[in-house]
Amino acid sequence: STFDDLKLTAPLLQTCKSLGYKQPTPVQKCVIPFLIENTSSHILALSSTGSGKTAAFVLPILHHLSYDPYGIYAVILTPTRELAKQIHEQVLALGANLRVRSSLIIGGMNMTTQACELSNKPHIVVATPGRLGSLLRGPNPPVLRNIKYVVLDEADRLLNANSGFQGDVAEVLLHGTTRRTEGDTRERRHNCQTLLFSATLTRSLESLQEMAGAGLGSLPL
Ligand code: AMP
Repeated sequence: STFDDLKLTAPLLQTCKSLGYKQPTPVQKCVIPFLIENTSSHILALSSTGSGKTAAFVLPILHHLSYDPYGIYAVILTPTRELAKQIHEQVLALGANLRVRSSLIIGGMNMTTQACELSNKPHIVVATPGRLGSLLRGPNPPVLRNIKYVVLDEADRLLNANSGFQGDVAEVLLHGTTRRTEGDTRERRHNCQTLLFSATLTRSLESLQEMAGAGLGSLPL
């Protein structure tokens, strides 16, 4: 099959062609049409670096974003600064035709500049959990309450109890998946999809899957 079969919007197809992508990889064949059709399910996809997994989640996010480009639309979390940079680069390359604005929010860079960048509402935020967590707990937290996607890239590492990321990941999920209206203390879930990508199925992912029950479908890859 070709990219034309994946139901991606025309500007994205054009970008894939100009990047020299001829055929979708297996994870792309599986994930892209699913996420284009399905705007409420959470997914767990098992695939490793080099499989084309970044484009597998970035392309459908950009597809939906092209119809509704308002506010911070997606947060992509990944464990290292280097991976964050690579994903940010891919978002910019794949989103070039759509003039997508992406912010790279990682440690080692000026926090005030980053807070300012986030207040300008980029479409996509690519972050390491520690830095985004710090900003969310800071004086002017970025507004994530309308995001449609939270991606956990290398989810096994992000959710590992020994990695130290769990608290910050939970903070992002909480901001992104619940909203509170003034005078109302109840939290309401809104339609935010969580996309987990992992090279291995670890215990922490398995227990997450159990907790989510039918809500977290595992895609057979
Ligand atoms: P990833 O697994 O996301 O780290 O991607 C590995 C590399 O494969 C990246 O440099 C992508 O630009 C490239 N890539 C992704 N999808 C395709 C495709 N369908 N055809 C050729 N290259 C691809």
